Amino acid sequence: MNLKCPICASPSHLDFVKHDYSIYACNNCKHQFADIPQTPRHTEQTYGDDYFFEGGSGYLDYTSEADLLIAHGARYGDLLQKYTQAGTVFDVGSAAGFVLKGLTQRGWTGQGIEPNDTMASYARQTMHMNVKTGVFEQFQTEEQFDLVTIIQVIAHFYDVRKALEVTQSLVKLDGLLLIETWDRESIPARLLGSNWYEYSPPSVVNWFSIDGLTDLVQQFGFEEIARGRPAKLVYASHAKSLVKYKLETKPAGKVLNKMLDLVPNKLRIPYPSFDLFWALYRCK
Ligand SMILES: [Zn+2]
Repeated sequence: MNLKCPICASPSHLDFVKHDYSIYACNNCKHQFADIPQTPRHTEQTYGDDYFFEGGSGYLDYTSEADLLIAHGARYGDLLQKYTQAGTVFDVGSAAGFVLKGLTQRGWTGQGIEPNDTMASYARQTMHMNVKTGVFEQFQTEEQFDLVTIIQVIAHFYDVRKALEVTQSLVKLDGLLLIETWDRESIPARLLGSNWYEYSPPSVVNWFSIDGLTDLVQQFGFEEIARGRPAKLVYASHAKSLVKYKLETKPAGKVLNKMLDLVPNKLRIPYPSFDLFWALYRCK
């Protein structure tokens, strides 16, 4: 079977199998994607409460990351000041509303959508964010926004082209689109190959390069205006375990490990996210 690439529509080939899912690679642009059922049921089944609370490929307890994710949203608010004034934002895949909360702390007026109702309810009731429960590919509204944010969500869509069609309808002319996702061409991804931890279907189903993502969103009327790598704040305990996992066998990793051992576990520190990139687009 040859599945069509969602970015360039070229034929693809079976690259490898992970967790019983076939992962295909485009013969032309090298984009990778999992063969999953392209229905809303996929989203509903994949993002049940166990995804947010029971570990595995999801989270041990998503709400324990609240302050870090709020700070992450606020940092994007700071970054956006270089390109635009704060206005209205629609956040896609809001989960418990933490990133959206951070953006509102920088002056943005926000709403969002989240398929998991436990998370969306938490966003509404505890975080006082206007987050609807729903599947984004099916979302419809007459409203348009100055900014749409898709933070660590675009790799999850069961139909990424449909999701970008909806996105296009949501962004005002000259409005912005901010996407953060995992980088298939990052150093960890290249070193680990098919063992890269972000190859985790069925929740992650698309693996982008920065150029590949830009090629895709250009087809929906967006032009790239900036790109970079987010510096995320993480707890020192988390950074220590990541460094052990990713770098321990490298000489630099050993030195970094020794330095990190001096940092108290509860301290929040900036950690370079080797696997992630962000890209900012303007709607033409
Ligand atoms: Zn392709």
